[in-house]
Amino acid sequence: MAFEGLAARLQETLKNIRGKGKVSEQDVKDMMREVRLALLEADVNFKVVKQFIANVKEKALGQEVMKSLTPGQQVIKVVNEELTALMGTEQSKIAVAKKSPTVVMMVGLQGAGKTTTTAKLASHLRKQHNRNPLLVACDVYRPAAIQQLQTLGKQVGMPVFSLGDKANPVDIVKQAMQHAEAEHHDYVLIDTAGRLHIDETLMTELADIKSIVQPDEILLVVDAMTGQDAVNVAEAFHEQLDVTGVVLTKLDGDTRGGAALSIKAVTNTPIKFAATGEKVDQFEPFHPDRMASRILG
Ligand code: GDP
Repeated sequence: MAFEGLAARLQETLKNIRGKGKVSEQDVKDMMREVRLALLEADVNFKVVKQFIANVKEKALGQEVMKSLTPGQQVIKVVNEELTALMGTEQSKIAVAKKSPTVVMMVGLQGAGKTTTTAKLASHLRKQHNRNPLLVACDVYRPAAIQQLQTLGKQVGMPVFSLGDKANPVDIVKQAMQHAEAEHHDYVLIDTAGRLHIDETLMTELADIKSIVQPDEILLVVDAMTGQDAVNVAEAFHEQLDVTGVVLTKLDGDTRGGAALSIKAVTNTPIKFAATGEKVDQFEPFHPDRMASRILG
């Protein structure tokens, strides 16, 4: 399970302070040393860890906490709040355009789960928001990506717009937009091409698509299992495209937590959704507070 090691360590550390009727400055410092090590071991970005520890210390050592009747519990509350804030404070919703259709560009490296996530998001929009999305197959380079999206589209009962793998992505999106308007789709989800590594050709193509469709949302799909690499990928995409949200995939794996806990702080882009399996319904809005509580037990 994701975050298992981190959760176990933090829970063990916090257990010591939880029941304390009196908490000394030294107690808080000792606890935070352990918390720091646990976060670093979970592959959380070191700058993020440093800031986190400073924030918790400042608040936990404040008068109100130390002089409260249950200082141990108050300190834990501070840790919980700061952990939540690290991942985004509140649940970030997907954009809704003033004028339909809302256009969402899905971007990310190959293998991150972009195509699967595109279908999952379509299904989510239909089921939870009663929307009528059109899926657009723009990944013309990865063998079988178009077929994969078509198969997934069938599975979730959603139409897929495609011009095959010989067409130019810019032409595809242009025609897809006309099609979406004619067919009254209220969301257009564009599955763009990924690469194994970030390269200029990929970014130029994405920038071209972006300038044509003027998306309301650019969702970056990242594999949570890749830890700090995911954060670096997010920074690079964000720099080029001004990403508006992140989807963390593979949270069902034994990811240590580094990506989930660092990506918002490093890129200032909210995590909007989490994917927790290969099946289409293993996808949900990301709730920072629930994730923090899950980690702290
Ligand atoms: P793309 O290259 O980014 O379009 O990636 P795909 O959508 O083809 O996904 C790559 C692989 O990851 C596929 O085998 C998916 O079934 C799998 N996958 C996607 N999301 C998840 C997830 O949340 N959990 C797990 N365990 N596997 C996932």
